[in-house]
Amino acid sequence: MDLLPPELRSENMRRIRSKGMKPELIVRQLAHGLGFRFRLHRADLPGKPDLVFPRHRKIIMVHGCFWHGHSDPDCVDGRRKPKSNLDYWLPKLARNRQRDAEHEAALADLGWAVLTVWECETRSTAYLAERLRAFLGPG
Ligand SMILES: [Zn+2]
Repeated sequence: MDLLPPELRSENMRRIRSKGMKPELIVRQLAHGLGFRFRLHRADLPGKPDLVFPRHRKIIMVHGCFWHGHSDPDCVDGRRKPKSNLDYWLPKLARNRQRDAEHEAALADLGWAVLTVWECETRSTAYLAERLRAFLGPG
């Protein structure tokens, strides 16, 4: 069964799956293809969130699994540990996670709903499109 609306099956959307496209770009194209309007990296909000949907008061953060510490046991990059300079890297990665949690809490306090999309979740665009639609609601 194909869950995607026709506009997502276009040539444009097929290119999304080409390897090497940045996860944030994939999410942007999907959200755009679903008909949502958004702003990018709004500097007046905590953490300069990646995608901001002002009309819905919703935010999507796109996180790299290694840099932001994806805790899913099935995520290879999330479990990957730096091989050297651990004294430098481990605190740095821990700070990233801490900052993400602080930004999300601050955004929630301001009344924003936040969805975090992990890099590894952008590999299945059909599934991701469904998640975006469920999160953002009727356009
Ligand atoms: Zn991951």
